[in-house]
Amino acid sequence: MSQPGEPVENAPIHPASGREHLFNDGTVEEYRRVLAAGVDRVATRIAGTDRPFTGITPAQLAPQIAAVDLDAPLGETTAALDELDELYLRDAVYFHHPRYLAHLNCPVVLPALLGEAILSAVNSSLDTWDQSAGGTLIERRLIDWTAGRIGFGPTADGVFTSGGTQSNLQALLIAREEACARAAADRPGPATRADLLPRLRILASAAGHFSVQKAATLLGLAPDAVVTVGTDATRRMDPVSLRRELDRCHQQGLVVMAVVATAGTTDFGSIDPLPAIADACAADGVRLHVDAAYGCGLLVSRTRRDLLDGIERADSVTVDYHKSFFQPVSSSALLVRDRAALRHATYHADYLNPAWTVQECIPNQVDKSLQTTRRFDALKLWLTLRVMGADALGDLFDEVLDRAAEAWRMLDADPRFEVVTRSQLSTVVFRWLPDTGEGGPVDDADHDLADAANRYAREALAASGAGMVAGTVVDGRQYLKFTVLNPETTGADVAYVLDLLAGHARRYARQQRAATLTCHV
Ligand SMILES: *Cc1c(COP(=O)(O)O)cnc(C)c1O
Repeated sequence: MSQPGEPVENAPIHPASGREHLFNDGTVEEYRRVLAAGVDRVATRIAGTDRPFTGITPAQLAPQIAAVDLDAPLGETTAALDELDELYLRDAVYFHHPRYLAHLNCPVVLPALLGEAILSAVNSSLDTWDQSAGGTLIERRLIDWTAGRIGFGPTADGVFTSGGTQSNLQALLIAREEACARAAADRPGPATRADLLPRLRILASAAGHFSVQKAATLLGLAPDAVVTVGTDATRRMDPVSLRRELDRCHQQGLVVMAVVATAGTTDFGSIDPLPAIADACAADGVRLHVDAAYGCGLLVSRTRRDLLDGIERADSVTVDYHKSFFQPVSSSALLVRDRAALRHATYHADYLNPAWTVQECIPNQVDKSLQTTRRFDALKLWLTLRVMGADALGDLFDEVLDRAAEAWRMLDADPRFEVVTRSQLSTVVFRWLPDTGEGGPVDDADHDLADAANRYAREALAASGAGMVAGTVVDGRQYLKFTVLNPETTGADVAYVLDLLAGHARRYARQQRAATLTCHV
């Protein structure tokens, strides 16, 4: 028997505390119940979705969400789930549906969903060891594993991030600081940094990601700091153009702090020629960052890993597991060839990570991260690798790439559409063409009509919810885009969506022509 005032071992800390919504050892049964109820709602919705979307508009949904009185709680789970079903689940955009073909959103694998449930419940924070313990070590193993797949050596390191945008920001922060450090070594003094910042340049292709521009602004660089390097016909960075821009910057007294090569451009799925770009960077002593937010899935492919050859020569690499490793948002990482580069994110706080913890070799990740409190997103990838394995993930990505190639062939053979260059990954960029009787658009008016018809077709398809496709602009003209990331998408799904798109576009073009004729009468 324990005496009053003595600690009681193995007894619930909060038995029947009355605080039934607080997660602790006294509420584990309620935890099981509410989680099962939530899972059941999602499962019921998923089982009943015949379309990726219902086509609901903001005008329809916004008043319902605005009408909820947030100061009048429903008090229990079932009623709140009923309400959520109406406000969110019923009209959500479902990425698991085979006719969701729009953005870079993947269906997710079950081991990762399990990881998501566990990491939220335990709620570890990956900034320090004393808030995460094994979580810190698991994240480090996955960073090492990814670095190994890239082909980095033993000095590599990295950190999980919230997404490719943050990974690119950190990569470019490192590049800026390295450029400043180099300049200060040549010419010590407080003026050096201020002189240098407006002269720093980042070289990226026109098909690179807009987060590079955003990072340049956040980093206090000049408005024209991102220099566009030309691409070839397949939308890959042209090494000749890169050489020219490097020389031009040099002649103008500008300092190239990084070249950003994209391994999988968001629109075209094109992979910049990494070996040639790495050669140019090596020749000029310029940092190479590879944005593989999309193409990182090739790291686990058993048939196409060679498309990433040269990535091992990068100084830093962005990977988005939530793009092509079938992981739920968020799951992303920045990898660096030389772990010393991460010191630019290191600041010490007495309360969190005093310098002596480093001397005592207590592992912490906050010294490498732009974030402080940080989710244990790595757990999702860990369970995925432990349950399925890397080959199974890579096989899923390979299937998706095969399916996109099939969609490209279908479009290439379809006279209703024009398709641009074949993607190395899984996007397909195409455009419906009005039948002018002369085999396609002949003048600007035809092209303007095609622009409007393609825009309309995309919106009409989304409004019906029968399929979702993306839109983009290529050389000033409106195009449509499939991003295939679902191995369940079939050729029949693609054919069905193409028929719907062509139908919407044709109807629109006919109406426009009829309206024009009426005006002329
Ligand atoms: C999606 C994407 C990003 C941005 O990643 P987020 O995870 O959305 O922040 C960066 N680069 C490329 C090439 C991308 O496709």
